[in-house]
Amino acid sequence: MRPASAHLTEFFRLPLMINAFALVSCEHVMPKPKGKPMTKLTGQCLCGDISFEADGEVPVMANCHCTHCRQSTGAAFATLMFMKQDDVKITGTPKTFQHKSDAGSTMTKHFCGNCGTPMFTQNSSREGMLGLRAGVINEHEEFTPKVNVYVSSKMKATILDDGIPAFEKMPG
Ligand SMILES: [Zn+2]
Ligand SMILES: [Zn+2]
Repeated sequence: MRPASAHLTEFFRLPLMINAFALVSCEHVMPKPKGKPMTKLTGQCLCGDISFEADGEVPVMANCHCTHCRQSTGAAFATLMFMKQDDVKITGTPKTFQHKSDAGSTMTKHFCGNCGTPMFTQNSSREGMLGLRAGVINEHEEFTPKVNVYVSSKMKATILDDGIPAFEKMPG
């Protein structure tokens, strides 16, 4: 006779598989990384007036190829690590610039008023979250992007990593 736990296992197997599938397909549509706990992140601008320490989960790591990101960073694409704003301690006062996203939300760019280094970005539709520019992070090995977005406006010269999903615009 099988132990009662075997029946329980069978009973739960199907829903578990469905749940696992739902999680996997969900991640393909809008990557919702597990928010792995990170080592502490630190970074600073070129002149050192602005610096930060961040400690917490990073639920979104992405490359954004949209025109606004290319303009505001001067780079081929933006490298973003989104964290809870409360998990980031900023020293110094970045300058800010606000503009509208194509979806109509208010975007706030934070940059050093002295040397111009782009540091952070905020989206009014993601309240409480702060996007850190991965290029200014000392522990840059922690940046492992999970998705490319807005590839419809990427630079021709930019080669995408086939190993992660790419979306024409913003998924979801
Ligand atoms: Zn600076
Ligand atoms: Zn962008």
